[in-house]
Amino acid sequence: MFENSDRTELAALGEFGLIDHLAQHFPTKLPSSLLGIGDDAALVKLGTKVMAISTDMMIEGVHFDLAYTPLKHLGYKAVTSNLSDICAMNGLPTQITVSIAFSNRFSLEAIEELYEGIRLACEKYEIDLVGGDTSSTRSGLVISVTAVGEVSPKKITKRSGAKPGDLLVLSGDIGGAYMGLQILEREKRVFLEHNQMQPDLEPYDYIVARQLKPEARLDVVRMLEELAIVPTSMIDVSDGVASEIHHLGKASGVGFEIYEEKIPLDQQTLDTALGFNLNPSVAALNGGEDYELLFTVDQKHYDKIKNHLDLTIIGHATDSVGSYLLNTRAGNSFEIQAQGWNHLKENQ
Ligand code: ADP
Ligand code: MG
Repeated sequence: MFENSDRTELAALGEFGLIDHLAQHFPTKLPSSLLGIGDDAALVKLGTKVMAISTDMMIEGVHFDLAYTPLKHLGYKAVTSNLSDICAMNGLPTQITVSIAFSNRFSLEAIEELYEGIRLACEKYEIDLVGGDTSSTRSGLVISVTAVGEVSPKKITKRSGAKPGDLLVLSGDIGGAYMGLQILEREKRVFLEHNQMQPDLEPYDYIVARQLKPEARLDVVRMLEELAIVPTSMIDVSDGVASEIHHLGKASGVGFEIYEEKIPLDQQTLDTALGFNLNPSVAALNGGEDYELLFTVDQKHYDKIKNHLDLTIIGHATDSVGSYLLNTRAGNSFEIQAQGWNHLKENQ
């Protein structure tokens, strides 16, 4: 199947390059496989219904640091980050399976804490945990969650489908999870240096919660239904908007132009970015894990969205394929690079 004979470093491909490389060899064959590798979730036809399936793995030391991540929050986030991928297909999640692997460093009480978070997410989002797998590691904790859900066939929304002129819309605000992470990392350093950790996180409560306990935007999927809008394309913001617009553009064969002044930022995100001497817009576009929904809609829906409190039009799709422009407040415009959270390139 693969004809490589030399050794190729995976870092040369990056995570997305590797996925594309593997996917070439797995075109779907069954008529029921409506959508295979390459979107936020796969789509499977079951009679007249369409099921969405998505899976994600979280590894200690790569995706989370237990020095500042309570296990309860971790369980919650492992679930919500997966539910978010079902929402990104314009679907609603129904069941999850959870697989864990851990070393003897973990006690029953620790695993119970993790599952308390999973239970809270199941309760809040009205989904059932229906299975999983339990295994061991030499060290560290691994959690893998698979979510399934249902998408109404007429409302299926993929990453492909955006047309030039479509409005680019974002739910909620972005950059908070990234700035929350910067605060947590800073407090960890202070603790390691001074061996005392009574950090006052209150001024940062919103952004720290965005990082540790993100929500999935099922409410946005329902809101779109109420507004009678079927987006032309959609993705969830796991790697950062800069990276996600590249995914939408590549899948749809369009470019995007966005406006800095439109980027929705919470005051805490803004203040914290400035405190770290970071450009808030750059931090917001490149920071990941907000789990907001980024989607395109036909211009005819402009009136329904323009004054919406939880939806912001941040730009539009263009026919300049492969071009992703940021128009700054100062009146300049430059290409947005897809930095993303490409962990294969971090030399770990
Ligand atoms: P997301 O950030 O939305 O979870 P990913 O970037 O993890 O999406 O995955 C993109 C696509 O690639 C998805 O369709 C996913 O199922 C698929 N994918 C990722 N890793 C693999 C793999 N190892 N084998 C097959 N498909 C994969
Ligand atoms: Mg996704």
